[in-house]
Amino acid sequence: MYGLEGKVAVVTGAGRGIGAAIARELAQAKCALAVLDRPGDEASAQLVQELGAVGTKALLVAADVRDFARAEAALAEIHETLGGLDILVCNAGITRDGASWKMPEAAWDAVLDVNLKGVFNYNRAAAAVFKAQGSGKIVNISSINGLRGKFGQVNYAASKGGVIALTKTMARELGKFSVNVNSVAPGMVLTEMAEEIPEAFLEKARAETVLGRLAEPVDVARVVAFLCSELARHITGEVIRVDGGQYI
Ligand code: NAD
Repeated sequence: MYGLEGKVAVVTGAGRGIGAAIARELAQAKCALAVLDRPGDEASAQLVQELGAVGTKALLVAADVRDFARAEAALAEIHETLGGLDILVCNAGITRDGASWKMPEAAWDAVLDVNLKGVFNYNRAAAAVFKAQGSGKIVNISSINGLRGKFGQVNYAASKGGVIALTKTMARELGKFSVNVNSVAPGMVLTEMAEEIPEAFLEKARAETVLGRLAEPVDVARVVAFLCSELARHITGEVIRVDGGQYI
């Protein structure tokens, strides 16, 4: 459906949640998959087994996205093992919420390090590869809270706003090399994480949407796969909200 047969994709933070859904969607589209997650993460190892069992060429990459030097080495390892690199999806992200006046320095640093520096590390490393080959697709996962702000998320919103600015800059820098760089900004998504969120909070988010529903991870994954395909060849530097109208 997306015309992605034979492409090689890497998804960061692919062990669970939205990242796992993106990896599964790209695998269904017959991409070879590098499943990148934190060293020791068991879910990502299981996902590689699951994908392998249905005939997907899948590689487990144990890497912390905060590690600048590791990014280049990880992409080289993927290129070597899977025979190329066509798609980078920067999905790994964390939250450390708290009102700004109570937020410890460590919560600011932790979120910015993973959510923004981690995205920079992998965009930078992929840029060198994609520029040299004259093709490539990058999708960076931001959030509607990076567009609208959110009480208790000064660190997260700043990081996701940063991802959007980074995406637009990368699109400008890589356009002449036929590389598309876009961002997907989900609203609230029902991942495993959401199971711990109080029902009243979920209901509030649901009420904010105009569709009256919250996203499943696959809703985000399909838009990512579209942006990685030639169907979206004329879209770059864009931020696509996948939020059921939660932030219009
Ligand atoms: P999740 O916590 O379920 O999964 C995140 C994955 O990233 C995990 O597998 C984790 O191990 C990995 N990860 C975390 N830190 C890492 C690091 N330093 N190096 C490598 N991997 C690391 O999260 P999710 O809900 O699936 O969210 C995925 C992305 O979507 C994040 O960027 C998040 O900010 C964004 N997002 C989520 C929602 C939502 O409602 N769930 C809404 C908007 C945006």
